[in-house]
Amino acid sequence: MIPVNTPLLNGNELKYLTQCIETGWISSEGPFIKSFEEKMAAYVGRKHGIAVSNGSAALDVAIKALNLSKGDEVIMPTFTIISPAQSIVNVGAVPVLVDSDASTWNIDVTQIEAKITSKTKAILVVHIYGLPVDMQPVLELCKKYNLLLIEDAAEMHGQTYNEQQCGSFGDISIFSFYPNKHITTGEGGMIMCNNDDLAERCKKLRNLAFEPNGRRFIHYELGWNYRMTNMQAALGLAQLEKLDEHIVKKRKVGKMYYEGLKDLKGFTLQQFKTNYAENIYWVFGLVADTEELANETVKKLADVKIGTRPFFWCMHQQPVFRNMGLFKNEHYPIAEKLARNGFYVPSGLGLSEEEVELVIEELKK
Ligand SMILES: *Cc1c(COP(=O)(O)O)cnc(C)c1O
Repeated sequence: MIPVNTPLLNGNELKYLTQCIETGWISSEGPFIKSFEEKMAAYVGRKHGIAVSNGSAALDVAIKALNLSKGDEVIMPTFTIISPAQSIVNVGAVPVLVDSDASTWNIDVTQIEAKITSKTKAILVVHIYGLPVDMQPVLELCKKYNLLLIEDAAEMHGQTYNEQQCGSFGDISIFSFYPNKHITTGEGGMIMCNNDDLAERCKKLRNLAFEPNGRRFIHYELGWNYRMTNMQAALGLAQLEKLDEHIVKKRKVGKMYYEGLKDLKGFTLQQFKTNYAENIYWVFGLVADTEELANETVKKLADVKIGTRPFFWCMHQQPVFRNMGLFKNEHYPIAEKLARNGFYVPSGLGLSEEEVELVIEELKK
């Protein structure tokens, strides 16, 4: 069996985790948290990193910390994981959706401006599968209309846009450290920003909104317990030491797949390179020309024990949002095709080159 993801934990993970056990520092009070936050923030080039329990929690905190609330509109891609849309809806704000670009699979930046209204407060970009969003036009729109920028860089550790780190663009940016990301803490996430007040607010919201200076157990607003444990941070520190190696490996696997599959009839691949970035291949995805071809291919790969995952499902077609009366009669043809006909093949860091070659062979068959 070749699973879609196997993590790579071959550095100082065991050593640092053992230190947690031996010293008894296992909660969020332990010393690895601050160290992981500082090193990750330094890597991305940001002043503050605020570690939390997962990437979706990071989005909850980010949206609330920016004081987005009832009726505010946030422009975002329809083709993404549910996390950002969920965080927006949970504060009473409204996600306003945009279709994808057919070659990068990211939000089509040329369609954003038409969606801006007097209620628009922010643009939320999600870098999808390995290529960054074309940030320059987005930054210009944020400036022109005085909008906040939220950056979901959950899949982009170490990727750059015109040589600048992804995760360094947003007024607030987030990362995830789920086991299929470039570095993992099992479960985990981090919020990044440069603004001191915003960072303090995020720290407060992740910690039940305890008042930093007031009497403990008296609360003036609601937050969450989204704290990261010292054990997760121990993993994170060890993984961060390997991030550059992980990126080289991801790109190598991505390039092998790309070279092996770019002429495969009936399938489209994400762009290998744009004028602002080279794909980091968080996952290696294929989009079949038809839904039947996609289903049949996935089934045949399963028969030879090769794991696949379907692509994200569009936000405007989520039953949970449709039942709330959101996105009625909205259609986004490019994103819908990605969602219906797209799947990705094994692309984890634990994958061997022989396994990549085997997957290519089977796909060609
Ligand atoms: C993984 C991911 C998340 C969520 O992170 P979790 O840690 O799994 O909660 C959010 N956004 C994107 C784009 C992701 O890929």
